[in-house]
Amino acid sequence: MSSRRKTKLKIDLVIPIYNEVESISKTYADVRQVVDGLPHEFRFIYVDDGSNDGTADSLREISANDRRVTLLTLSRNFGHQAALTAGMDASQGDIMISLDADGQHPPAMIPKMIGLITQGYDIVQGQRMEDGRAASFKKLTSNFFYWLINKISGTQVMPGAADFRALSRNALDGVRSMQEYHRFLRGMISWMGYNSVILPYHEPERIAGRSKYSLGKMFRLASDAIFSFSLAPLYIGLSAGFVFFILACGQLTYVLSLWLTGNTQRVEPGWSSLMGVLLIASGIIMILLGFIGVYVGYIFQEVKRRPVYLIKGKTNDDSE
Ligand code: UDP
Ligand code: MG
Repeated sequence: MSSRRKTKLKIDLVIPIYNEVESISKTYADVRQVVDGLPHEFRFIYVDDGSNDGTADSLREISANDRRVTLLTLSRNFGHQAALTAGMDASQGDIMISLDADGQHPPAMIPKMIGLITQGYDIVQGQRMEDGRAASFKKLTSNFFYWLINKISGTQVMPGAADFRALSRNALDGVRSMQEYHRFLRGMISWMGYNSVILPYHEPERIAGRSKYSLGKMFRLASDAIFSFSLAPLYIGLSAGFVFFILACGQLTYVLSLWLTGNTQRVEPGWSSLMGVLLIASGIIMILLGFIGVYVGYIFQEVKRRPVYLIKGKTNDDSE
């Protein structure tokens, strides 16, 4: 806390970036315009997540002209969550603020975030306001995803929570102590607890280009969130098993009672009912085996303890 009372704070801005060559100069200028007027010591940590569109050259140029800009280049595209993790690992400041490179996380909120951290909050979580947005595929799937994850996991994740947030040194050290391979940072940060506050913001359109979250990447993030934060899919198996067990007991009792009362002629060979039960039971077993398979796969990847990302190069890094 004492460090937070200092007037001049060291603040690291972590910016993951993947193929955003058209937006870089504008977002950099927009962020500078805000932070240059503040009495703190800022460092920009750009994480180039394996871009192949000229983003790397533009970043190198920015970094050559501004000593405060550190550029971490990852060895390939590891994904947004891994790039954010690389940036947070490199952060040594009193406060870390993460924001996207496409202009959708308004830099104008930065002073407010810093203000809330200096007031004593450890986490300032940006929340995208869903005002006046037309229903889109992304919005619908995102709403469904938040509904599901909040239903089945013990960790609550607020709808609209973005990877636009500020963390105190304490909270940042907390996230850095979580070494898991499959990372859903919004859930991990909510899991930590600490003093948090929500900061709603209006999300502008992307400055340029298209979303770098492909359908595959969105699906992987949702799967990381569900399977690493919830055991509910396994319990579905347990409950279905119980239901089938009770049904089987009922059936056995019924058949036995017919035998005991000498009504054996009423026990008819029932192809359709048998087939029905067989299909339902085998379907459920296959789905559950699939769930177990996914968990085994996740465990397999965790026990390998591979790094979440690999760094190919660094510029203006004074930490070593
Ligand atoms: N990004 C990244 N690696 C990826 C995909 C995205 O570093 O594999 C960056 C991207 O450049 C942007 C941020 O993560 O700065 C958020 O991505 P995007 O804006 O495409 O996501 P959306 O806003 O559509 O959810
Ligand atoms: Mg975006």
